[in-house]
Amino acid sequence: MNMNKIHVKKGDTVTIISGDDKGKKGKVLRVDDKKGRVVVEGLNMMKKHLRPNRDNPQGGIVQIPAPMKSSKVMIVCPSCGKPTRIAREKRNDGKVRVCKQCNKVID
Ligand SMILES: [Zn+2]
Repeated sequence: MNMNKIHVKKGDTVTIISGDDKGKKGKVLRVDDKKGRVVVEGLNMMKKHLRPNRDNPQGGIVQIPAPMKSSKVMIVCPSCGKPTRIAREKRNDGKVRVCKQCNKVID
């Protein structure tokens, strides 16, 4: 049983609600339910050193998005465009996420 199910899913647009990237938006690339972390495109970037290889004989540094706590992000509702908390509602085909701002179904 997992009581800490993350409120966002891969492909959601989210906004950061705390820290240096506060207010920035991005798309969720990965969700790690077990660790409670998410990876968001273009946010929480960290430098990664690359070893030299055939394509890149010099090696080098790339920036990749690092995992962050899921509590740092809030979903941006695709219907009303506002950052929102979500409600979970039961439907015939399972639970859906509902925007608390406009009450539209997000899933
Ligand atoms: Zn909404």
